[in-house]
Amino acid sequence: RYLKTIELDGFKSFGVKTAIECVDGITGIVGANGSGKSNVIEAIKWVLGEQSAKSLRGEKMEDIIFNGTHSRSPKSMAEVTLTFDNTNKWLPLDFEEVSIGRRIFRSGEGQYFINKSRVRLKDVVELFLDTGIGRDSYAIFEQGKIDRLLSESPEERRYLFEEFAGISKFKFRREEAEKKLEAAQANLARVQDIIIELE
Ligand code: ATP
Repeated sequence: RYLKTIELDGFKSFGVKTAIECVDGITGIVGANGSGKSNVIEAIKWVLGEQSAKSLRGEKMEDIIFNGTHSRSPKSMAEVTLTFDNTNKWLPLDFEEVSIGRRIFRSGEGQYFINKSRVRLKDVVELFLDTGIGRDSYAIFEQGKIDRLLSESPEERRYLFEEFAGISKFKFRREEAEKKLEAAQANLARVQDIIIELE
């Protein structure tokens, strides 16, 4: 049991702070249509770094902040925290438990946390690469995903298999290294220009 709890505060229909404890085996979430079941899954994707408001059924990211009901006023911030068991160190961090948090304010400002420390989006995405748990991973199969998978382009399908085979991490690192190399080459070109000017 890796995922222990999902805490939601101000995320979509969760105007009241809510904690969902995941039990051993299978945890099911039941409720009437429109009661917020899909919102829980979207909250998980969101914490793991989802950047597309559309894939969370919104126009802009701030749409996920609880916008109030007739009896409850809107919230100024949405916050979701996932707590994972890490006793077997499946995540490369020296902690028995790892919590991942994300916040968004009405201004659009966003924050990410790993064990309550502020981190960058990149740190969260990198932590989960090749674990099978990530914003686009095969661990989350929403309504219609199988249909989409079958109709997706071969490139998109390959992405899923790459994640499954555990090579996404290396691709990600290569891209990062390529970016650094480009920056270094630009610096080098600038230095060479200066040398020519001085000569
Ligand atoms: P279904 O069984 O029909 O798929 P569901 O239980 O999965 O339903 P969701 O689609 O998760 O339900 O929840 C939709 C509800 O969330 C709607 O009632 C909608 O009004 C509410 N909701 C979405 N965004 C917000 C928001 N920003 N503030 C308040 N409520 C919101």
